Amino acid sequence: MIIVMGQGAGQEDLNRVVSMIETKGLSVHLSEGVEHTIVGAVGDVRRLVVEELEVLAGVQRVVRIMHPFKLASREFKAESSVVNVDGVQVGAEQVVVMAGPCAVENRDVLLETAEGVAAAGAQVLRGGAFKPRTSPYSFQGLGEEGLRYMAEARETTGLKVVTEVLTPEDVDLVASYADILQIGSRNMHNYSLLSAVGEVDVPVLLKRGLMSSIEEWLMAAEYVLAKGNEKVILCERGIRTFEKYTRNTLDLSAVPLVKSLSHLPIIIDPSHGTGRWDLVSAMSLAAVAAGADGLLVEVHPRPEEAQSDGGQSLKFPVFQEMMRLLSPVAEAVGRTVNVREAT
Ligand code: PEP
Ligand code: MN
Repeated sequence: MIIVMGQGAGQEDLNRVVSMIETKGLSVHLSEGVEHTIVGAVGDVRRLVVEELEVLAGVQRVVRIMHPFKLASREFKAESSVVNVDGVQVGAEQVVVMAGPCAVENRDVLLETAEGVAAAGAQVLRGGAFKPRTSPYSFQGLGEEGLRYMAEARETTGLKVVTEVLTPEDVDLVASYADILQIGSRNMHNYSLLSAVGEVDVPVLLKRGLMSSIEEWLMAAEYVLAKGNEKVILCERGIRTFEKYTRNTLDLSAVPLVKSLSHLPIIIDPSHGTGRWDLVSAMSLAAVAAGADGLLVEVHPRPEEAQSDGGQSLKFPVFQEMMRLLSPVAEAVGRTVNVREAT
């Protein structure tokens, strides 16, 4: 349930509303908008009496949120959220491109890739140090060593870094190196992990589960928000369908749909979304046209040598060309992209 405070409401009015909610055992989340303060009451809302809240001074209206997700909903927060990643704003005018290898394989290749994607205009370096692999015999990532290389790449290029965290026990470790904690598709339903990243003050990139509905995905975001971490970025990365020519079916309709349901920024991963490097540029352009706030793209200097996902990784020239093509599309929908001319 949300309680919209009137424009003239003061701190005392707000305190009264908050204490009525808390005495009934519910928790309170405040959203301070430009014109209104919105009080979100989360918990067993049957304990609240709408009429009792409506008559309190300063209260403009009381609204029941019909969606199962509350804090993630547009009703709770009308303005789109912008997640500040140490100075890079995700959800603002500029479309933020995150790029890099699937996995951190070794120091040299990572630094080479970081230089390459930074030169083309990417603002965030992606790369998995802890890899969730379908096979236990596949490369599992370099672990903390990989995190150190990511941090070194940040030092040398100025890129922010995003990397996956697989378990609640690793959250503090990964958070000590990363600018964004990635929750992978396979872990979208891992509620103890979602709660753990909800307790740190680091942005979270929450991928859609490979067989999850949009409502389940927004409920996963709700877990993070309910723990107090408001910096959630959603990432559509394709869902499993009967189609075999692509690895997944990229659901681009998720972009405008999520934007109507939620205030959270949403980015697109066309690499895992298609599994094919030759489809990545077209899907990136379409994603930006559809209103995506960013892209997560796999790039490798020599994809044929990659330890994972080489077939969906772009070489530098293809990535540079994609960045160049993004610019007019972004402009057509009132956005910008940080393109740099290749040197
Ligand atoms: C990744 O981006 O590194 C990854 C493993 O993707 P997903 O969780 O979407 O499969
Ligand atoms: Mn990958």
